[in-house]
Amino acid sequence: MEAVEIQAQPLAALVELLEPERAGRFLAAAEHGRGALAGRVVWNVNSTASGGGVAEMLQTMLAYARGAEVDTRWLVLKGDPTFFEITKAIHNALHGSLVDRERFGPQDRAHYERVMQANLEQLQGLVRAGDFVLLHDPQTAGLGAGLRQLGAHVVWRCHIGRDDTNESTERGWQFLREYVLAAEAFVFSRASYVPDWVPRERAVVIQPSIDPYSTKNRPMDDRQTKRVLLEVGLVRNRLEPDGIHFHRRAGHEGVLRRHVDLVTNAPPPVTAPLVVQVSRWDRLKDMTGVLTGFADHVAPHLPDAHLLLAGPEVRGVTDDPEGAVVYAECRAVWEAMPAQVRSRCHLATLPMDDVDENAFIVNALQRHATVVVQKSLAEGFGLTLTEALWKARPVVASAVGGIRDQVTDGTEGFLLDDPADLAHFGARVVELLRDPGLRTSMGGRGQARVHRDFLGDRQLIQWVELLMSLVA
Ligand code: UDP
Repeated sequence: MEAVEIQAQPLAALVELLEPERAGRFLAAAEHGRGALAGRVVWNVNSTASGGGVAEMLQTMLAYARGAEVDTRWLVLKGDPTFFEITKAIHNALHGSLVDRERFGPQDRAHYERVMQANLEQLQGLVRAGDFVLLHDPQTAGLGAGLRQLGAHVVWRCHIGRDDTNESTERGWQFLREYVLAAEAFVFSRASYVPDWVPRERAVVIQPSIDPYSTKNRPMDDRQTKRVLLEVGLVRNRLEPDGIHFHRRAGHEGVLRRHVDLVTNAPPPVTAPLVVQVSRWDRLKDMTGVLTGFADHVAPHLPDAHLLLAGPEVRGVTDDPEGAVVYAECRAVWEAMPAQVRSRCHLATLPMDDVDENAFIVNALQRHATVVVQKSLAEGFGLTLTEALWKARPVVASAVGGIRDQVTDGTEGFLLDDPADLAHFGARVVELLRDPGLRTSMGGRGQARVHRDFLGDRQLIQWVELLMSLVA
């Protein structure tokens, strides 16, 4: 297990964004939590410190919990490539994707339990009776029983799911069920994700949230946005900026030094209308569908528009072992495109070794986007979308999973009932690219919606209530 550092983030700045009554409720909950949870550690265990929505949210939420003087800690479990292949298959299964017949047999179970046991042994030296342990996603579910034996309060937080069930979801849940049921409480992002065998009275829905002050979301003006993207080579023009500084979460400054790896003929001109999707290289994000949809249904109508797909650089052993293959599939689609449209499509792999720098680049990219798309085939919640809405970007996104909780069709953006309908996808993107007034009004409504529903105060209050209920 590896401990991830958490920098306390005072609540004051977030409080300033809230109306007085809402701010009062938030501060009262923080005060309550501080008292009721005193002397207990709130451990969080997940499978990666960077890349993906869970790590993103832990970085910001745990910082606020520390700011509220709750003793939160964050541990990342250790697994080998086989373990992460098994858990990625569970992830895909819970999203309803087809999974190999041989998966989830006795061999997978034995391997999963071995990795759980090794991690549990490390936790045994750290967790004390009365502590809370929040286990995130399938990778950590099997730790529950052992932690309960230590006298800890265990909550399993599932960030993924699917509204209806199919054979794959059944198989995935069948593998996990006995581990999951060892927890005292269960947290899901949507009510429809709660499997019917989970006791209703112990299940809670807590929707994710973003932090407006994180490196990924803090304000950045148009000039700085452009300078950042020019500096890292994601857009081009004649200016040669240098020496860009950015705020790290810890408060001190970093200097941007990274050149992003971009598969392209030449980066998009800084003045070009830009369609952006930021995602892990995961088939369920359908990056290849976005490429084809743009090439066939957007590019022919708007000769100056460009598409940029950005995802994390492809690394060695991670909790997402399919990244390299999916990225290669995107490259193959890109290479097979006719030259005139290929020159307007770009694949960026963003460096991940410096979390703040990565977030800073994503921030600039989302702000620079004319339209943000999220054409996922399945989505637990879709924090990338929340981030884009907060930046007042109009969106075109699939009507799947948690995306439907964030966007109402025609209000903050457009929803795609059938993500496979590329002509419809293209038509909505073109509509937005052609209509600056519509972009502004939808963008404004998106930002308002995030302000109302998806800031951290709401989530923190819900967590305090849940944890307090376990020790009442
Ligand atoms: N992200 C990032 N760099 C990348 C790709 C994604 O920082 O190259 C972040 C993105 O900004 C968001 C998170 O990863 O905060 C993705 O969360 P989401 O809920 O959209 O999807 P998940 O990856 O958890 O399926």
